[in-house]
Amino acid sequence: MTAFIGYNNQSAAPNPGRRADFAPSLRTGLIPNGLRPLAMPEILPGIHQVEGVDPSPEFSTHVYLVKDKGPSWTLIDTGLPGAHAAIEKYMREHKIEPTAVKKILITHLHRDHTGSLKAMAAFTHAKTYSHWLEAAYIACDPPYDGPGTPPAMPHAIDETLKDGDSIDAAGGLIAYHTPGHTPGHTSYYQPERKILFSGDLFFVEGDQVLLTVPDYTHHTPSALVSARRMNQLSVDSLLSYHGGPILKDGGKAMRAFRQLPKK
Ligand SMILES: [Zn+2]
Repeated sequence: MTAFIGYNNQSAAPNPGRRADFAPSLRTGLIPNGLRPLAMPEILPGIHQVEGVDPSPEFSTHVYLVKDKGPSWTLIDTGLPGAHAAIEKYMREHKIEPTAVKKILITHLHRDHTGSLKAMAAFTHAKTYSHWLEAAYIACDPPYDGPGTPPAMPHAIDETLKDGDSIDAAGGLIAYHTPGHTPGHTSYYQPERKILFSGDLFFVEGDQVLLTVPDYTHHTPSALVSARRMNQLSVDSLLSYHGGPILKDGGKAMRAFRQLPKK
């Protein structure tokens, strides 16, 4: 469970006592034995999984930097507080100008997704987007009192989304309100390429897809309904935030998702 740092309300530090709860494969992206990461983080054409955003190898969060159809880019989620340094470094190395990032899309309020939102918005001057419900919680107005770690600091989202909104980003996205993990959790679907940025609706362990972890979920039955709804989509690549991503046959893996029992 230590992979999911954003969910530990007590501390941002690893919690080794819970490590055995989840298979090590949840820490996908981990390079064993101190080997250097592969220098090819462009996991699909134009879709980059930003390297180096996690504070330790115990954690696995996937911040996606996605090329738009034009010269601009879209950032999907922003990692923990401090992850902005790695995102900025990655952009420098790949010669992506800060102002080329025009939009930052947030799947939900949790700190491991919004921790570097303010810094990345300042760095890029991009417009920030989230579901209208999450936008209130990201602004800490009201403060979020559900499970999981709330935002590190308030941030005013520029554009609020509702279910079904189209976003001119990443080749054309549809915002799907997928509540459960948090009340306004949103997944982003690219229909042309059949790619689903699923946020924390699903966690991926090896080639297995798990429904969002109950202990860190606002309302599991809602997440189950959201998952069933996403299962209706045609998905080739399931780009999860923790574990995975599953680049091929992601829809098949998604439809076979498992539910973990609540502890
Ligand atoms: Zn979350």
